[in-house]
Amino acid sequence: MRWPGVLEYFADYLPVTSHTPLITLNEGNTPLVESYQLVEKLGAGKLYFKFEGMNPTGSFKDRGMVVAVAKAKEEGRAVVMCASTGNTSASAAAYAQRAGLSCIVLIPQGKIALGKLSQALMHGARVLAVQGNFDDALSIVRYITSHYPVALVNSLNPYRIEGQKTAAFEVVEWLGESPDYLALPVGNAGNITAYWKGFKELKEKGKITSLPRMLGFQAEGAAPLVSGKPVSNPQTVATAIRIGNPASWKGAIAARDESGGLIEAVSDEEILQAQRMLAEEEGIFVEPASAASFAGVLKKSEEGFFTGRETVVCVLTGHGLKDPDIAIKQGEGRIEEVGASAEEVVEILGLEREHV
Ligand SMILES: *Cc1c(COP(=O)(O)O)cnc(C)c1O
Repeated sequence: MRWPGVLEYFADYLPVTSHTPLITLNEGNTPLVESYQLVEKLGAGKLYFKFEGMNPTGSFKDRGMVVAVAKAKEEGRAVVMCASTGNTSASAAAYAQRAGLSCIVLIPQGKIALGKLSQALMHGARVLAVQGNFDDALSIVRYITSHYPVALVNSLNPYRIEGQKTAAFEVVEWLGESPDYLALPVGNAGNITAYWKGFKELKEKGKITSLPRMLGFQAEGAAPLVSGKPVSNPQTVATAIRIGNPASWKGAIAARDESGGLIEAVSDEEILQAQRMLAEEEGIFVEPASAASFAGVLKKSEEGFFTGRETVVCVLTGHGLKDPDIAIKQGEGRIEEVGASAEEVVEILGLEREHV
């Protein structure tokens, strides 16, 4: 089938005018993969994974970035800029090229996964590594974009949220209704804000009769929404959610409270275990931050949270290939060396011949 991308397909729900350039990398339309194995561990009725790693640059950021970049072009901007833990810069760089704009990205020095950095570089962005964390980089970008003719494409840009809400539309289109629970990792909190907005719009339009409860999960060392106060030195292996002062703080709290949901923390160990479980048991390879949604759902199920009749959707925000270092570290010691002969391979595998 022909999939035209987010701007064209969801035009009626987006700030698309006759002047908006309908740029696209055919983002969106990502699979809602049904769980075969992990659902058994949960005690929920049905478990699905919204695999956003299948977007063109490997994360959900593409949904919002296509809208933000198209609007920047429509408004006559020549340069876009963002602070990024990685995926925003990869996406901004790709869509800026697509639209014929130039792109500047500010990343926290040394704290960005290899795959993401390689994307920003390959797409020709100007990459500045800031000697500070994401929150420092974002405040610099906010200052520059409000004083210079440069478009801000962080999720503070409302067009980002507009684009990202289309993932909620796809979940509903796939299931034919709203799920009971929607779980997702929370960093800067744009995505939880966007999903909630998307579900609420569908309810207002009468397309769904009920709303999901939103389950947000932060990493223990970067959980300002759980503790209720900013974290000055956020720490977690899940670099995409290593954020101490979420820009969409209010949106996240509103999504939690209006939906009767929760925002809780999971440890790095739980995140990495969930990442391995998704890869080994379901065949889905995600980056660590993405696994926080399933890690959280698993933890809640161990606390007896689910009754066994619910439909749960875990959003898997980014592809595992984004962060090869973490994956290889987790597999360390698993590679066995062997001589280049069939006999040696047979021996090491302990294979026995079939007797006829
Ligand atoms: C950006 C990102 C997040 C966090 O999303 P927020 O909107 O900042 O809460 C989670 N996972 C991945 C892979 C991301 O790229």
